[in-house]
Amino acid sequence: MIPRLLAALLAISGAQAALFDFPTKNRALLDGRPEDFYMYVERDFEGATTYPWEGGQFGFVRRPQRTPQGVDFARFHEGVDIQPLLRDPAGNPLDDVLASAAGRVVHVSKEARASNYGRYIVVEHRVEGCPIYTLYAHLASTAVEPGQEVRQGEALGRLGFSGAGIDRTRAHLHFEIGILLSGNFEAWYAARSAGDPNKHGLYNGMNLSGTDPAPILLAAAKDPGFQITKHLAGLEPVFKITFPNSPDLTLLRNSPWLVPSGEIANPPAWTISFTGTGFPVRAAASQKPVTAPELAWVKDSPAAYTRATRGLVGGPAGSPRLTESGKRFVELLTCPPGAETPASAEEAGPLTFVKVGFPMGCMRFAWSERNFATHVGNVRLRFTINRVIHETLVQAFPVERGVESQNFPPPFAFTLGDVGYSPHKSRKVPDPRIGVA
Ligand SMILES: [Zn+2]
Repeated sequence: MIPRLLAALLAISGAQAALFDFPTKNRALLDGRPEDFYMYVERDFEGATTYPWEGGQFGFVRRPQRTPQGVDFARFHEGVDIQPLLRDPAGNPLDDVLASAAGRVVHVSKEARASNYGRYIVVEHRVEGCPIYTLYAHLASTAVEPGQEVRQGEALGRLGFSGAGIDRTRAHLHFEIGILLSGNFEAWYAARSAGDPNKHGLYNGMNLSGTDPAPILLAAAKDPGFQITKHLAGLEPVFKITFPNSPDLTLLRNSPWLVPSGEIANPPAWTISFTGTGFPVRAAASQKPVTAPELAWVKDSPAAYTRATRGLVGGPAGSPRLTESGKRFVELLTCPPGAETPASAEEAGPLTFVKVGFPMGCMRFAWSERNFATHVGNVRLRFTINRVIHETLVQAFPVERGVESQNFPPPFAFTLGDVGYSPHKSRKVPDPRIGVA
């Protein structure tokens, strides 16, 4: 009864939780004390060693170098490093790490040496209809399991110093807020890594694009009406890439706020705008018949293009172009053709496909008179079909038993009910309804 009474009183008093709250009890940033919030870095530069707290911020804050324009920072830090408030006599941090918002734990990496993040946790939040992710790294211990629902402020584990480049003195929480880039990350990674296994499924840091958490935490603390999708859509674009459409753009499916027109049709190409750190902020359908990703625009910058775009755009002044790294980045956003999915027993939660459009791209599917099989992202779907569905497919495509995607007549769509799925295993869909839109 008491918690319910308390909740009722809070509701009456108008007290409202911030959309995203500070992930430890350290809230010094709110009081204008960044030096007590951010964990410093040890910096050796031009013969001097300093300990600037600025190195704990998000962005290009590390590895200073002298350039004709002054001192520049070459290394990107994709989160904020938060100081502990409490330590035991031996100097071990004692702070609880708290869920920044209510959500579902989607990844817990308990092995300190399995990642540069050390022990880390990823939580998925449904905010304004979109999945947003928070990541908590360098933990001493974890207290939650994948699949667990957590409340805002619930302890996820304890702050620590596990992972690369960190020791007891500099123990801190590395905290990120971001979005998932691809539902097909594992296949992309498997095709590009030289035998180095991915131990983190979709929740490898490479597949999470982070934005600066500080303005989000500050704005959410001060404004109960704060909207994160509005904040993200308002970030400044620095470059744009146009690339051929692809059947499984996780980015657009998860983040409809990227498309202000609200129309996610099947254009031949998309142009996506990114911030200088590669965070997507806007998407627009493009009629340009591109066959490979190309740079559509880059903001003028006194620094080299590579520095202004996290290495995704390069080339001499006046002749910018996508770098190899930029091309690989677009490959991650789109679907790698013919990628096979490695087997794993890991289970994910239920997924609802309401209407999945299949334009041209790397989608492949096949059917017989009785069965239909395809991949949607990393998920292999197969289901039994009846004669009516089979005839619909045969009418839609000029082949009897299956097709590769190159020349689909869009728009083709099928509708599935709620589909329980494993990201790596085949699963029978109980009640498919297929139709040509
Ligand atoms: Zn960090």
